[in-house]
Amino acid sequence: MFTDGEVIIVGGGPAGLTAAISLARHAPRLAERVTVLEAANYPREKFCAGAVGGRGDAILRALEASPEVAHAPIEGISLRVGAGVVAARIGAIGRVVRRIEFDHALAKIARRAGVRIVEGARVHEVVARARGARVETTKGALEAAVVVGADGVGSVVRKAMGLGRGAFRAQVLEVDTPMVAGDRERSFIHFDAADRRYPGYSWDFPTVLHGEELVCRGIYHLRVADEVVDIQALLAERLAGMGLDLAECKNKRYAERGFETRGEIARGPMMLIGEAAGIDPITGEGIAQAIEYGELCARFLCDHFERGVPLHTWGDAVHRSRLGRDLAVRALAVPAFYGPGRARTEKFLHQSEHALHLGCQHFGGVPIDRPRLAKLVAHGAVELAAEGLSRVWSKRG
Ligand SMILES: Cc1cc2nc3c(=O)[nH]c(=O)nc-3n(C[C@H](O)[C@H](O)[C@H](O)COP(=O)(O)OP(=O)(O)OC[C@H]3O[C@@H](n4cnc5c(N)ncnc54)[C@H](O)[C@@H]3O)c2cc1C
Repeated sequence: MFTDGEVIIVGGGPAGLTAAISLARHAPRLAERVTVLEAANYPREKFCAGAVGGRGDAILRALEASPEVAHAPIEGISLRVGAGVVAARIGAIGRVVRRIEFDHALAKIARRAGVRIVEGARVHEVVARARGARVETTKGALEAAVVVGADGVGSVVRKAMGLGRGAFRAQVLEVDTPMVAGDRERSFIHFDAADRRYPGYSWDFPTVLHGEELVCRGIYHLRVADEVVDIQALLAERLAGMGLDLAECKNKRYAERGFETRGEIARGPMMLIGEAAGIDPITGEGIAQAIEYGELCARFLCDHFERGVPLHTWGDAVHRSRLGRDLAVRALAVPAFYGPGRARTEKFLHQSEHALHLGCQHFGGVPIDRPRLAKLVAHGAVELAAEGLSRVWSKRG
């Protein structure tokens, strides 16, 4: 059934498809030896709110691989915290897509670029050999020199590498609903982190389903300890406040995995990308990251096959990259957002006029306004110093 390939990419989501497309564009001879194995058949659903940061789309545009699908444009971000709402609008920074359409269109682009994709091929085992690995699938077995795990949160490749599920696990529940009277601007993605009963937030994103303007609403709970959080009850309560009934909506429940600064993502002939490796643990944003991982992975595989760069250095390559630095900052900031520092962080975000503006620029892949960043850092330093002084003062008193 298969011709054995040099590289097997397990999973045809944004990470796996971007890696394959990037190889097809930059290293066509290597791309000929690549096969993407996808468990499902396109068009396939992926539970996801579909907000693609402009920096992900910029990579796809550069690869001439931007899926033209129906979407809701994003121009700004709003955030509700205990003290009130902060918002920033800076112009086009992304779009909200339907993943069933986006991933299908990306797969078509990949095929047009010459990528071999085998659909309906679920990988159930990967066994490392003296050289390469044997990949067992529902459509038969094949051998590969390198196996790239782009198979998302439940990654089989990750399990085959002997790695755990990761420290940052989130449970997520979303629904699509009609707009309601209290909904704010459709050109914004809205986050609500005012409910401190759980580490996480809820969201309202504009979305377009079969031409109809709806709102995707959901709840993200990052499991920072062993706390039990009933996200269904919390979402039902929030929707009821808007006059909506959760029981009448199609509930879409899934998990997410956040990036860990010391997490291992390569072992033997296997390497991980996208959510199999780990995405932003604070917001659960993962589409743009998956695209970035894919592009980085293609460059790394070229270095591996053409210059002998060892596979086990994939983790270092990610950590040195812009993506790796960004994910590391987010992983290190988890306690500030969802731990004891939460109230202070919320106050800071609410008071600082710069934080959300910079967040928009980052999401959109717009060059960061450095004077603004310097002001934000200075503001943070002043806040921390003031807090330190008040602690010393209260101890003396
Ligand atoms: C409810 C929810 C809302 C979200 N909202 C957003 C959002 O608005 N914006 C954002 O940026 N991120 C969002 N995310 C995160 C985002 O969906 C993921 O991080 C992103 O899809 C990761 O891309 P990926 O290519 O790594 O993996 P995936 O998109 O999960 O793709 C993995 C692919 O591998 C295939 N596969 C799995 N197992 C196997 C196997 N054994 N064999 C073969 N193929 C296999 C799957 O069928 C799938 O096609 C959300 C996540 C959830 C759960």
